[in-house]
Amino acid sequence: MRRISRRNFLKITAGLGAAGSLLPFRGALARSPFAGLAAPRAAGPGRTPVVISTWKHGYPGNEAAWKILSSGGAALDAVEAGVRVSEGDPSVNGVGYGGLPDEECKVTLDASIMGPDYRAGAVAFIENYRHPISIARKVMETTDHVFIVGAGAEEFARRHGFAREELLTEAAREAWIKWKQRLSDADDWFPADLDHDTIGLVARDAAGDLAGACTTSGLAFKIHGRVGDSPVIGAGMYVDNDVGAAAATGKGEEVLKTCGSFLVVEFMRQGLSPQAACKKTLERILKKHAAKPAFQVAFVALSKEGEVGALSLQKDFQYAVAYNGKNELIDADHLL
Ligand code: ASP
Repeated sequence: MRRISRRNFLKITAGLGAAGSLLPFRGALARSPFAGLAAPRAAGPGRTPVVISTWKHGYPGNEAAWKILSSGGAALDAVEAGVRVSEGDPSVNGVGYGGLPDEECKVTLDASIMGPDYRAGAVAFIENYRHPISIARKVMETTDHVFIVGAGAEEFARRHGFAREELLTEAAREAWIKWKQRLSDADDWFPADLDHDTIGLVARDAAGDLAGACTTSGLAFKIHGRVGDSPVIGAGMYVDNDVGAAAATGKGEEVLKTCGSFLVVEFMRQGLSPQAACKKTLERILKKHAAKPAFQVAFVALSKEGEVGALSLQKDFQYAVAYNGKNELIDADHLL
C-alpha cells in the first residue's frame, strides 16, 4: 500500500515573543529534550499560558493560539483560533479544506470544542464547511444541544451564515483515485500504514482556565457516514476545568471504545501526571488486544497546573507545545 506521508519531520523551535524557559513536563520523557525538567507549579492569578497540540501542523496552530493567550485572551478563543489554522490549510490532508475524502470521494468533517464552564459543542459528518470547529462553537453558544450531525448540522451552519464551499482539493481527489485503483477484497477501509493528522489542541490561559478543540476529516477513504472519536466529547477531546484537558488522534474506534480523553482526565483527577495519565490510557487500549496492534493512537494532555504530557502507541507521533514564549515540536515517546 502506498504510504501517504505527511511526516517529513523536522524538530523545530522558535520564539513566540517573550523569553523562553523550561517547558512544563514532569516525569520521564525519555526521547524528549526536556526529560526530567521540573514542571512549573503556578498558582492563583497570573498563571502562565500553555498550549499543546497534535502533529506537526499543531505548531502553527499553537502560534495562533499563543497570540491570543499572550495578550490575555481566553483559552476558548485560543483553541478555536489554533485549530482553524489546520482547517484552512490545504496541505494538511486530515483536517478541513484539503482533507482526504471518504470512499464516495466526499470530504466529511467532524469537530468538537469544550470550554472551562463545562459547556461543549460538536458537529459530525458535515460537508462543505471549511471551519467545523466554529460551527461546533456556535452549537455550544447558541443552543442547549451539544451535538448536531449531517444535513442538520449543514442547515444549522447555513442559517448561521457560514459560507458553503467545495473542500475537495485536486491533491485529495487524486489520492482518492489512487486509493480506488488499488482497492481489493483485502481492503478494510483502514490501511494500517496510513498516517493520521487530526488536530487536537488544548490550552490554559493566564487566568488558569482550560479549553480544548479537536477537528478532523477522519480516516481517509472511510465508509460514507463513518464518524470517529474527534467530535465525541470525552473520546476525541475532553476538558474538566478543575482537573485538566486531553485530546486524541489515531484510530478513532479505539479511542471511542475507551472514552479516551475522558479517561486521561480521570487519571489526572486521581493524581497522575498528564504523561502518566496518557500512558495508563494507552495501556488500557493495549490490554484489550491480545496481539500487538498495528494501529496508532496518541494523546496530548494538560493539567490544571499547566503540566503537559503526550504519548503514542506507535512511533512517528509528534506534538507541539507552546509555553513561556517558546513553541516546540517534539517527537513523542511511544509504547510499542
Ligand atoms: N481520530 C481520527 C478519527 O478516527 C483520525 C485521526 O486522528 O486522524 O476520525
